[in-house]
Amino acid sequence: MSAVVTETEVRAPGSAGLREGAFGNATGLSCRECGHATALGPFYACPECFGPLEVAYDFPAVTREEIEAGPRNIWRYKALLPVPDDIELSPNTEPGFTRLLNARNLGRELGIENLWVKDDSTNPTNSFKDRVVACALSAARELGAKVFACPSTGNLANAVAAAGARAGIKTVVFIPSDLEKPKQVNSAVYTDSLVAVDGNYDDVNRLASEIAGEEDGWAFVNVNVRPFYAEGSKTLGYEIAEQLGWRLPDQVVIPVASGSQLTKVDKAFQELIALGLVEEKPYRIFGAQAAGCSPVSAAFKDGHQVVRPVRPDTIAKSLAIGNPADGVYVLDVCRRTGGAVEDITDDQVREGILLLARTEGIFTETAGGTTVGVLKKLVETGQLDPTLETVVINTGMGLKTLDAIADSVGPAATIAPSYAAFAATGIA
Ligand SMILES: *Cc1c(COP(=O)(O)O)cnc(C)c1O
Ligand SMILES: [Zn+2]
Repeated sequence: MSAVVTETEVRAPGSAGLREGAFGNATGLSCRECGHATALGPFYACPECFGPLEVAYDFPAVTREEIEAGPRNIWRYKALLPVPDDIELSPNTEPGFTRLLNARNLGRELGIENLWVKDDSTNPTNSFKDRVVACALSAARELGAKVFACPSTGNLANAVAAAGARAGIKTVVFIPSDLEKPKQVNSAVYTDSLVAVDGNYDDVNRLASEIAGEEDGWAFVNVNVRPFYAEGSKTLGYEIAEQLGWRLPDQVVIPVASGSQLTKVDKAFQELIALGLVEEKPYRIFGAQAAGCSPVSAAFKDGHQVVRPVRPDTIAKSLAIGNPADGVYVLDVCRRTGGAVEDITDDQVREGILLLARTEGIFTETAGGTTVGVLKKLVETGQLDPTLETVVINTGMGLKTLDAIADSVGPAATIAPSYAAFAATGIA
């Protein structure tokens, strides 16, 4: 823990029993709507206008060499994240610096000349959520949390339960009760406090806010410490730029649930430009949703400035947030950069999973199937320029959503153990 903490307890709604803290180069929390400044504490809504809060910084000069000399995980970007100076002392998971794969086969299949897959399925609990959770955990400890918790569509619960176990802090994770079994097991192995709620994610999220208001000392990673949590997604943007040799790609395709990840990749690119770590250039950011939960895509296509909530019904459960907190900011980013938000059917999600598996040997979950499927649709509809360098982000791992694809693949033949039987299949 940092020595410079305010020991006075914070009594804002949802923040009881937590305190303010010191977070490296972060200077405060700033309202995304009105710019009002708030102290670095367990706050997520602006006291003036209830707008969402975001971490503000005063960055020192940061060099490529300093970053390259750091560890091969997200902490190499520590100077650009809201983490206490003595983060080394905290037991923590070490996600990040996942592979950026030149996807020649998938590119050839889709007619894209220069395509990369940023493969976040290899993080400690096999999704990009380990990045945001690592940041949220260091924040929770600095803020004096006793319990590390989250409402989750699955992957977040896995990451919170695992990181909390390693840090020796009590975890309680809440999920919709109809969640895929592997994602339930992937949480329950790490914690004895997995709570399945009869309702959809938006119901679970509302319940979490209520609990945060009632209980003392609970850090809900994506509720009352959300500003710190969200910054972890910036590391995806930093890594893509660094792994391309310190330059920005022309186009990036990113899945959208709450929309946080997409907006933070854009924030990361902007910071890298401002710090002189990459050359300024135009880039386009595209969002991917499943048609069964596509409130942001619908708003984009209708030219709306607001996102109308929907009731999710899709196999892409990790993206099934009907009332996305950062939806309007996704619209801003995609419109400002000349990108788009698209959606595809569940069948196309399955096709996307198979396409990535059979071209690049990567087994992605339904979120990745959505992203790859949307990439294909963006090319086919002329929204994405196939002559420009493109990065598609794979955020999760297929073994967690086996049921989604299990009926689409299987043995080509079931045969007697004889050569004649094999020859009869025509496979040879
Ligand atoms: C949570 C999640 C996302 C989307 O994240 P948001 O920041 O909420 O938009 C994408 N893919 C996977 C696999 C996820 O678990
Ligand atoms: Zn405000």
